[in-house]
Amino acid sequence: MNKPIVVCTSESDHTSMDATHAALALGRQLSQESNAKLAWLIMGELPAGASAVGSIHGVHEIAHAGAVPLTTSTSDAVIPMLAEYCKRTEPQIVIAAQTARMRTVLPRLAARLGSGIVANCMKASANGGNLEVVAATHGGNLRSTLRFTGPPPHFILLMPGATETPTGNDATPMPELSTLDPIPWTEERVRVLEAARPTGPRLEDAQVVVSGGRGLGDRRNFDYITTLAHALGGMAAASRPLVDAGWVDPTRQVGLTGRVTKPRLYIAVGISGASQHMAGCSAARVIVAINRDRHAPIFRHSQYGIVADCAEILPALIKVAQEPV
Ligand SMILES: Cc1cc2nc3c(=O)[nH]c(=O)nc-3n(C[C@H](O)[C@H](O)[C@H](O)COP(=O)(O)OP(=O)(O)OC[C@H]3O[C@@H](n4cnc5c(N)ncnc54)[C@H](O)[C@@H]3O)c2cc1C
Repeated sequence: MNKPIVVCTSESDHTSMDATHAALALGRQLSQESNAKLAWLIMGELPAGASAVGSIHGVHEIAHAGAVPLTTSTSDAVIPMLAEYCKRTEPQIVIAAQTARMRTVLPRLAARLGSGIVANCMKASANGGNLEVVAATHGGNLRSTLRFTGPPPHFILLMPGATETPTGNDATPMPELSTLDPIPWTEERVRVLEAARPTGPRLEDAQVVVSGGRGLGDRRNFDYITTLAHALGGMAAASRPLVDAGWVDPTRQVGLTGRVTKPRLYIAVGISGASQHMAGCSAARVIVAINRDRHAPIFRHSQYGIVADCAEILPALIKVAQEPV
């Protein structure tokens, strides 16, 4: 067997189980292509049924770093432990779901080990020992195929929603479970006094999303978005300019640098359809676009399009949506 492939997840990072499954599925694919063992390194709380999940994805061993401090923003304490683990296990590839924490941890780890890293990965193949990664680059406008040339381990950050979560149940034997301890002498350089704790439903899980863009024109018009979303039993979201302008909370931003949604219905109101926005909603089953410009790029991505002024059509849509069924 060749050197192992490691999938690294941090459950205290609010990593959704979908993201974990996707990272494990990619790990399994690469381990099969390169005849290597698959290891799963879990930081923080052990997710429910971790062994069963590992077995579904062909994981050979689980290393659990439960005692590692994950309450801080810098991850200073995590990196030496991961570096030590990599030195000991000599993985050829390390994959992590691209969460806020892993976006900080993995580049620092790669730099410490003198290795390369590719973020925004959409898919990868072992390609006879020459790992190739397809990643979103240039602000999401291009898909580039990148090849690692430096020494392993090669680090990959997998974009949320990039791969389909497999539903197969070709389970393998239960993986072995071992415990990893943090390196005791590591000190955090930053102390977190109070951590923001996300509450309530997550945009990533919503079945209906109504999203507003710059075309709303006025902050008050975002109330239409919220009202329509509630009337349809869904969640309100926004494009980045509305977040940058402070109209909407950053947790509601959809796109490359925001949340990646996969609803049954995505209603884009006054949104042009820039690739960076579409990166967060193109997996929706049905996209309905409302835009006053009939040539707006969003219409190329939508199944249904309404050419209209949003301030005129939104009250009418809300009225219909609020009617008793
Ligand atoms: C590295 C990088 C990352 C980025 N990440 C993200 C991201 O995560 N999410 C994101 O959204 N963007 C992101 N962006 C920004 C992105 O490129 C676009 O600038 C942004 O998505 C545009 O937002 P918008 O469609 O709301 O605004 P605009 O592009 O200004 O479009 C407004 C639309 O509203 C229409 N309109 C105007 N008036 C009305 C009206 N009265 N009624 C109906 N329609 C009307 C217009 O015809 C137009 O199509 C990123 C950019 C970069 C460079």
